[in-house]
Amino acid sequence: MKYLLLFGIIMGVIWWLKLSRRSGDDQQATLDEPQTMVRCLHCGLHLPSDEALLAQTGIYCGKEHRDLHERGHV
Ligand SMILES: [Zn+2]
Repeated sequence: MKYLLLFGIIMGVIWWLKLSRRSGDDQQATLDEPQTMVRCLHCGLHLPSDEALLAQTGIYCGKEHRDLHERGHV
């Protein structure tokens, strides 16, 4: 019974390490600031990074502005 408890704790620690490591890789910038603000490349609007649209050419506030901006440059 004692070993079962120990096993459970070890599994919990491994799971916790895995979880914290993964979130650190995915949201390295958002760890320090809960809401990282980014700027739309087309209109200059500031918006939270999780609401922004990430395209190959940059960050936009929406699909429309990505299309407009990419069309204007190509
Ligand atoms: Zn925009």
